[in-house]
Amino acid sequence: MVSRVIPVEPFDLVVFGGTGDLARRKILPGLYLRYLAGQMPPDARVIGAARGDLTDDEFRKTVAEAIEEFVPAARRDAAAIAGFLGRLAYVAIDAKGETGWARLKELIRDDVVQAFYFSVAPALFGDLAERLRLHGIAGPQARIVVEKPFGRDLASARALNATLAQHFTESQIYRIDHYLGKETVQNLMAVRFANILFEPLWKSEYIDHVQITVAETVSVNGRGAYYDKSGAMRDMVQNHMMQLLCLIAMEPPYHFDPDAVRDEKLKVIRALDPVRPEDIVRGQYRAGGDEGSYVEHSENPDSRTESYIALKLNISNWRWKGTPFYLRTGKRLRARESEIAITFKEPPHSIFDDDRGWRENVLVIRLQPDEGMNLKVMIKEPGPGGMRLVQVPLDMSFADALGDAAQDVPDAYERLIMDVIRGNQTLFMRGDEVEAAWAWTDPIIEGWEARGHRPQGYDPGTSGPEDALMLMHRDGRRWREIKA
Ligand code: NAP
Repeated sequence: MVSRVIPVEPFDLVVFGGTGDLARRKILPGLYLRYLAGQMPPDARVIGAARGDLTDDEFRKTVAEAIEEFVPAARRDAAAIAGFLGRLAYVAIDAKGETGWARLKELIRDDVVQAFYFSVAPALFGDLAERLRLHGIAGPQARIVVEKPFGRDLASARALNATLAQHFTESQIYRIDHYLGKETVQNLMAVRFANILFEPLWKSEYIDHVQITVAETVSVNGRGAYYDKSGAMRDMVQNHMMQLLCLIAMEPPYHFDPDAVRDEKLKVIRALDPVRPEDIVRGQYRAGGDEGSYVEHSENPDSRTESYIALKLNISNWRWKGTPFYLRTGKRLRARESEIAITFKEPPHSIFDDDRGWRENVLVIRLQPDEGMNLKVMIKEPGPGGMRLVQVPLDMSFADALGDAAQDVPDAYERLIMDVIRGNQTLFMRGDEVEAAWAWTDPIIEGWEARGHRPQGYDPGTSGPEDALMLMHRDGRRWREIKA
């Protein structure tokens, strides 16, 4: 199977923060890969912008180094790299000052798609938006891409939305959540809405519970000061995990259209019940192996920030009343693994004598490390010995099923940047969605702060704090194993 690459319209894409970590690791290598795939039209250009005083050639050199470091050798093609570097320019600009804006205005064409990627600290988003308008650089159809975090609570997210809204309409604002650009996440919508198989069963009548796990092995070492102001709830649950939950729980949109999809996701967030304190477990990793504890990494000896969180959520609507969603995420865990597991209820009555209590079907959607899907079904154990049952996986690894086409699957950033150029907002968060997610998150965090809540310690290389196991056990359920 060969993947189809549809070229996009000619564009000028300005990457503010073009010399920063995210641009070097993801955005610029991703754009090179789209160039390599033949998706970039001949007159598309990428302009890096930051305060550093670089010439175009010096910027190209930093991008060449980033491609060398972050693109796999098999996809580094000398002629393509040279061609891509030829599309690059650089402007020294200060988001908070007036330097460089006149030069940027000269460079930007008004007869192509204009996109401005804000890959800078969120404190600069407002300044950039304002100056793009003030200097007459962004035309009426221009798009801006804003990175996470989008606020740290409802008030700051509202303020940021209001600031951006002074200069750009909602249809011009692309709030990026790279989880939504993952192939499997989109596949989740295809599986749900392009097959008849699952949808009739997709409700509390047939689904016992849902588990969403995002486990990481890394610590916060090196960015402890940043993480200490955030924690797992703000860093992972409020955005990425909430988005995954919405895709599982939402009603079928009337069309695969940006606002139709986002309307349905918003309804899910609004239907979330407030979470009871006994339905939350917060953890903080201890020292282990060669690495220090969370507190050592955060440089705050009294830090109460969680590096792990597990929660039980309830959605109060007709479809989901009575089906809990269990979410957990953490750092320094046993393995790097992200998955969604949907556990169906057991058949109402067993006709077989062999009853070992393993009769539930589980649909597992793996996001990483290897994207794919797996449906656990019961079959007869082969051989003589009567009707003994065994649970086996119907496993579909996308890499195996799709062959070369799966190898060519663009990384989340590549796909999302091309969606910006195409003007497709389906995989980007709308302002009201972000605000609704904060409105649900805020009281939980405020509750911890008011009580001076301390997270429980857990050992690195485990699946998290003991109490997280209890969160499931007390409901007669258990977490799926995080496999090393
Ligand atoms: P970073 O490495 O600190 O880079 C910041 C960039 O902004 C640099 O190019 C810097 O260059 C430029 N900059 C700083 N102040 C500026 C100003 N006043 N005017 C114009 N440019 C300025 O940050 P990052 O890690 O790339 O993160 C960028 C954004 O992406 C942040 O919002 C972050 O939260 C988000 N993000 C990052 C990651 C990641 O993996 N890194 C992941 C998710 C989200 P000069 O100093 O030369 O100006």
